[in-house]
Amino acid sequence: MRILITGLEDERFNRPLQLIANLFFEESEIIAAADEHHDFQIKFELNVQDKLAVTAELQDSDEKVFRSAYEQDLLPAETEKERFKQVKNAVSHVYLTVLQEFTDIRQKWGILTGVRPTKLLHKKNQEGVPMEQAHQQLREEYLITDEKIQLMQQIVDRQLAVVPDLYSLKKEVSIYIGIPFCPTKCAYCTFPAYAINGRQGSVDSFLGGLHYEMRKMGEWLREAGIRITTVYYGGGTPTSITAEEMDMLYEEMYSSFPDVDKIREITVEAGRPDTITPEKLEILKKWNIDRISINPQSYTQETLKAIGRHHTVTETVDKFHLARELGMNNINMDLIIGLPGEGLQEFSHSLAETEKLMPESLTVHTLSFKRASEMTKNKNKYKVAGRDEVEKMMELAQDWTINHGYVPYYLYRQKNILGNLENVGYSLPNQESIYNIMIMEEMQTILGLGCGASSKFIHPATGKITHFANPKDPKSYNEGYEDYTEKKIKILEEIFSEKAAPA
Ligand code: SF4
Repeated sequence: MRILITGLEDERFNRPLQLIANLFFEESEIIAAADEHHDFQIKFELNVQDKLAVTAELQDSDEKVFRSAYEQDLLPAETEKERFKQVKNAVSHVYLTVLQEFTDIRQKWGILTGVRPTKLLHKKNQEGVPMEQAHQQLREEYLITDEKIQLMQQIVDRQLAVVPDLYSLKKEVSIYIGIPFCPTKCAYCTFPAYAINGRQGSVDSFLGGLHYEMRKMGEWLREAGIRITTVYYGGGTPTSITAEEMDMLYEEMYSSFPDVDKIREITVEAGRPDTITPEKLEILKKWNIDRISINPQSYTQETLKAIGRHHTVTETVDKFHLARELGMNNINMDLIIGLPGEGLQEFSHSLAETEKLMPESLTVHTLSFKRASEMTKNKNKYKVAGRDEVEKMMELAQDWTINHGYVPYYLYRQKNILGNLENVGYSLPNQESIYNIMIMEEMQTILGLGCGASSKFIHPATGKITHFANPKDPKSYNEGYEDYTEKKIKILEEIFSEKAAPA
């Protein structure tokens, strides 16, 4: 779909307009030259004086016209960037409205295209905007539906109940540890995940590098007096290494990290049931790992086969029971909506099976076609549900969780997600993952150690974000881990220095 846009000279509008177009059309392109082929055009008129007034007029190929207008008082803006943001939101407002009319598709998240909608509500909360007023702004300026505003509020309330000091955890950090191995690679996977068989040499060198990073980072945090809020082992599948390797890794954590007994939560993803053994569960227990994840994704065997997860449904259930027997009392399970060949029937079946297990938390993902996955490269090979059916499955998940006592406690949206819906983490009350809250709301620095681990440094005083990514493949990691460690320590020194600290 090629959309001709006229009346907006500033190139900074292109990206937000493109992101909104992506919500409506699978493939779309914004163009500015009238002589190029286009499917329809939208003419904008922008007036910024005492008031901010914008109109949009969409004319389709049959010359049918749709119009939208929006007017608002100009808010005081300290910088040009702030002023542009206000104008951009007003332009997005009329643009979305006119596209909704043209396509007859209602965008429940309004003009919000970002990954973390709840951050916006937290921001208003921190600014002291009363709740009703914040909701009104979300409804009128951002065009978010009441249903989604309620969901956001419910999540924000839940997060603050679980982490009452959420807004003051800037001076602590959480740690993500990436283990880049899996038994086999799943078709939809874009994570750093390498089939582990026949790679012992690579595993050994990787773990050597990881131990080094953990030691150095731990040393620095201890000296700087910075506490760790949560630790999360992800990947890949962190339980795809041997029980002995896991044992040594957690021993390293206890000896290197400061005050491990004060860390609020340690999670280890044991996503693939085919990696779980009684010995590994004993090791997790030995080191007081609070929370694990065992991920069925689907309870339909053919689906697991189609997506390349070489484990059976029975194995998932058996490993869940085994983990319970061996004392794991906080287990998360992930389900994915929209897996190839799956519709309402298969998803209902997955929920019915979940009911028999009642894990402490359930994360419901909506399948996204990410660029690097096998599924995206072979889109035609995989038949997936359409927008309406995906939406119905989301509703089903919502109803099911309410009926079974789960509450939503975090959510994020993905680009290229089917039907532009969201991924939601549900949990039984007081079993929420604190790490998930920390990473979603960007309230503190997350230090990434290991392969494919992204660090996100949040400046405690300004909230400014600095990214740093470790390489995804073990070979590059093994060659450069000392250097990455040094660079990250340098950033930590900068953001946590006395000069940078808030008064
Ligand atoms: S188990 Fe997870 S990380 Fe491993 S290949 Fe499958 S999707 Fe990727």
